[in-house]
Amino acid sequence: PELEINLNERKYIESELLNMIADESSEIWMQPILRLSDSSVFAFEVLSRWFHPSLGEIAPVDFIQIAEEIKLISAFDRSVIKRSCAQLTELRKLHSDLKLCINVSANTLMDSSFATFIGEQIQLHSIPNGALMLEITETVLASDEAALINSITAIREWGVRFLIDDFGTGYSSLSRLNAMPLDYLKIDGSFLIALDENQDTICKTIIQMAHSLDMLVIAEGVETATQMQRLAELNCDFVQGYFLAKPMNLQQFTHYLQKI
Ligand code: C2E
Ligand code: CA
Ligand code: CA
Repeated sequence: PELEINLNERKYIESELLNMIADESSEIWMQPILRLSDSSVFAFEVLSRWFHPSLGEIAPVDFIQIAEEIKLISAFDRSVIKRSCAQLTELRKLHSDLKLCINVSANTLMDSSFATFIGEQIQLHSIPNGALMLEITETVLASDEAALINSITAIREWGVRFLIDDFGTGYSSLSRLNAMPLDYLKIDGSFLIALDENQDTICKTIIQMAHSLDMLVIAEGVETATQMQRLAELNCDFVQGYFLAKPMNLQQFTHYLQKI
């Protein structure tokens, strides 16, 4: 009976997820990414939120996983991209050089019509060169190398930049990383904890490696002043985390931009 309840609940979540994607009822939340040199706002990362009327808030890691399993992730990611690009145009009226980072899953990126879709969005919303960045994780690097490079190269021709997310938490192949046309690298927050204990070897190594591969570095999950200070000493380029600002809804983020 317990299994049956779980199965029914899962079926219910799947059908609700289907509806959520169809009527685009997830919320686009935003977390600022600041330049470490002068604390100015560089970009924001889009973090999706799903508030279900009876199930409550469902964490993105959970619903993204289900969307992957039922092959709806590409539809979801595209809907997030569409809505965020429309939003960017409005937000750039408040902060002219603002850039936008969006998470995309490997399946979304490897879809053969994705580059065309991105081109349409760039044109439709007149997104300037370099203002849209796509965040991919190391799992993407497991895809067929030639196909992956083709896909990234075609999308970069639209002025889109690529960012490797959660760097160091998966199974990165450094030779693969070197072969990929990537622009930014995000250090996972789990590596920043050592900075509070005065151990900077890992962060220092990652930052130096990224810089020598011509990538700029974003440290995410920054939670303490000590981490900020150490990251500045290590020449990290950008910071993101609760210490600076938590993810916000559109109204809160608009207010945040108006205040700075
Ligand atoms: P991520 O891309 O690694 O995003 C960073 C996560 O860390 C976010 O969790 C964010 O809210 C959280 N975070 C930010 N600052 C701090 C901090 O200082 N300390 C700590 N402990 N956490 C911090 P969130 O919003 O729950 O998202 C989880 C994951 O879900 C994301 O991880 C991303 O992989 C995925 N995700 C979220 N929205 C989307 C989306 O629209 N599309 C896709 N494909 N994936 C998404
Ligand atoms: Ca991310
Ligand atoms: Ca991350």
